[in-house]
Amino acid sequence: MHAVTLIKGDGIGPSIMDEAVKVIDASGVKIQWEEAFAGLAAFEQFGTPLPDETMASIDRTRLAFKGPLTTVVGGSGFRSINVALRQKYELYANVRPAKSWAGVKTRYDDVDIVIVRENTEGLYAGLEHYLTPKKDIAESLAVVTRTGSQRVIDYAFKYAQDNNRKKVTVCHKANILKFTQGLFLDVARETAVRYPDIQFDEKIIDASCMHMVMDPSQFDVIVCTNMFGDILSDLTAGLVGGLGLIPGANIGNDAALFEAVHGSAPDITGKNLANPTAVIMAGVMMLDHLGEHEAAAKIKAAVEKVVNEGKFVTPDLNPQSKCGTIEMGNAIVEAMK
Ligand code: ATP
Ligand code: MG
Repeated sequence: MHAVTLIKGDGIGPSIMDEAVKVIDASGVKIQWEEAFAGLAAFEQFGTPLPDETMASIDRTRLAFKGPLTTVVGGSGFRSINVALRQKYELYANVRPAKSWAGVKTRYDDVDIVIVRENTEGLYAGLEHYLTPKKDIAESLAVVTRTGSQRVIDYAFKYAQDNNRKKVTVCHKANILKFTQGLFLDVARETAVRYPDIQFDEKIIDASCMHMVMDPSQFDVIVCTNMFGDILSDLTAGLVGGLGLIPGANIGNDAALFEAVHGSAPDITGKNLANPTAVIMAGVMMLDHLGEHEAAAKIKAAVEKVVNEGKFVTPDLNPQSKCGTIEMGNAIVEAMK
């Protein structure tokens, strides 16, 4: 029995998380879900977007499965609850895999890229403010540390080794940002020497975007600082069929949090339109993390069957489809039988 803190989240969160829990439970794995609240749902109920009870639960379980969160604007004391959680539990590596699906038609059919994004510092360190009372000069500080860079870059190389990957590319802007990006690049170069079996490549971030759109097959594992990883992972999502498909793992030394890459999608909330695939695949990553490889493989095969058949899928994957979030979840459960 594994204890997992379950945060359903805001917007489309509860609807996709219900399907994910249904699918995970149907796989036969024994999970004890501890429901907790964060984001807007928590603010409305407890007056804070990150209640002590929620952190107490994660302190116990060291493992969270989370839907997207809306950060309450103004007054809550947080810029982003997602960033706050990543920083509090030092979830320094954000792993976002994007792989082509046989049944989802896009420009390329051979995309297989894993982004490892630094998740606790860089431009998301939270050091942003106005310099003048008139609020006409704003300043944001990017913090890059050797320790912070080292742990995520090591994670990327180890991930490549453990998952039979051939290459790690560091995407950076060290030509302009010589100190912050320069430090990250230096650490990547030093680290590459320690992994002679993994090919190492370095690319400037803007050129990386162009190369990725022209020929994504040249990328394998990518490691980069926080904001570049955020932006690049939406790009890779677009290459394989959209945000409804991409899971994310946030990994620290003694805690981990699994979620979708996408946000709360207010434009489709409450319409039974949201694609549950991204959070279900985040669940697959969580089960693999727990060593429950059999259940993970079973769910993955069922999701692939349903997505690739293209029949019981949400309209983001098939505009003709009349199928919603719930029907897609049911189809995945059926496919596991
Ligand atoms: P947030 O501020 O919470 O990040 P957002 O407005 O940036 O929300 P996203 O959730 O990041 O919205 O989504 C961007 C676009 O992708 C939206 O048009 C949304 O409808 C679509 N989208 C996101 N997730 C899904 C999903 N699971 N299924 C279908 N469409 C999705
Ligand atoms: Mg968003």
